[in-house]
Amino acid sequence: SGVWSNVEMGPPDAILGVTEAFKRDTNPKKMNLGVGAYRDDAGKPYVLPSVKQAELEVIDSGLDKEYAGITGVPDFFNSAIKLALGEDSSAVKDGLNVTTQAISGTGALRIGANFFNKWYSQSKTFWLPTPSWGNHTPIFKHAGLNVSSYRYYDPSTCGFDFQGALEDISKIPEGDIIVLHACAHNPTGVDPRPEQWKELSQVIKQRRLFPFFDMAYQGFASGDTNKDAFAVRKFVEDGHQIALSQSFSKNMGLYGERVGAFTIVCSSPEEAARVMSQVKIIIRPLYSNPPIHGARVAAKILNTPALNAQWLTEVKGMADRIIDMRARLRDGLKREGSSHNWQHITDQIGMFCFTGLKPDQVERLTSEFSVYLTKDGRISVAGLSSNNVDYLANAIHQVTK
Ligand code: PMP
Repeated sequence: SGVWSNVEMGPPDAILGVTEAFKRDTNPKKMNLGVGAYRDDAGKPYVLPSVKQAELEVIDSGLDKEYAGITGVPDFFNSAIKLALGEDSSAVKDGLNVTTQAISGTGALRIGANFFNKWYSQSKTFWLPTPSWGNHTPIFKHAGLNVSSYRYYDPSTCGFDFQGALEDISKIPEGDIIVLHACAHNPTGVDPRPEQWKELSQVIKQRRLFPFFDMAYQGFASGDTNKDAFAVRKFVEDGHQIALSQSFSKNMGLYGERVGAFTIVCSSPEEAARVMSQVKIIIRPLYSNPPIHGARVAAKILNTPALNAQWLTEVKGMADRIIDMRARLRDGLKREGSSHNWQHITDQIGMFCFTGLKPDQVERLTSEFSVYLTKDGRISVAGLSSNNVDYLANAIHQVTK
């Protein structure tokens, strides 16, 4: 027997496994609604024109390929946190933020997880909404933390279970960490309204919980990066010392470039300096320092006024196309004569729609219509286009009538 005879075969990744099955399907009408990646109306991956332009400028500037520092490209991470907290954020002005570049959102979460495990003395338990992004639980568990959950999604309305969330949160032990999706909740597309965020902020403060924000879709929900930052900014304004993971995968379409940032807002510059020193000590043995190209591209976009304006228009274009596809899917279902209430398709926001389809219906969508999605009934609305939205409406109607 071999050295690794004890190693069991693991299951395929729930989301990436869907893409594998899709690739094997020969039906020309097949649709991949599993992976959360934006597609244009021709169904093609989209490189933002602002990104192409920024790349040309980065190459033109003739920079060398020396290592970045442990925390990455300063022009990138210093602008990233301003995008999140606001151009005139007092936390940034007062030097309270510890911000480092990260290997996109996933890497930011993992740096945060490792930092909390080592230095957060009050608790080792992270509370996730039910449901949450599938990678959250393994990220925190692999870093040695405990994971628990609070009510979030109400299957009966396909909306936010505000009462359930408040009830559960008010029972979370003092000092524990609560994970919040800043906007465009994945997988449900269900976000609290501004008034509900305000109340959540108060309850979380009363309970003395630590709010850890995951912001993977800033701008992608409403089309407006400021509007999508409402919750994060409100919590900081209310005096929470938040942790924040940022990803530029979706809003800049930089998926494979792995551009992200991790921030902890501290109570004084002196505390921030100590925290920063330890964040570096966590990163150094993980990957030494992050890749530079994607961060330089993002920095160009964030720091060049004309490019920045262009990018904001392109983000809005992506968000608007998704919002339009939601409306067309709902219209299509009505046209098909579906008797179900599909209002949640247009009420939900961001990349995903949590359709409410049951596992057997999902199964039929795939086997009879070659429509690929995760078993929980989540579809990536970004995978819809003028060419296939009616096909999907028909397919959903057939499996739900
Ligand atoms: N958090 C959430 C909620 C996400 O949906 C994603 C992307 N699927 C991420 C984090 C991280 O993605 P990335 O590592 O590509 O930035």
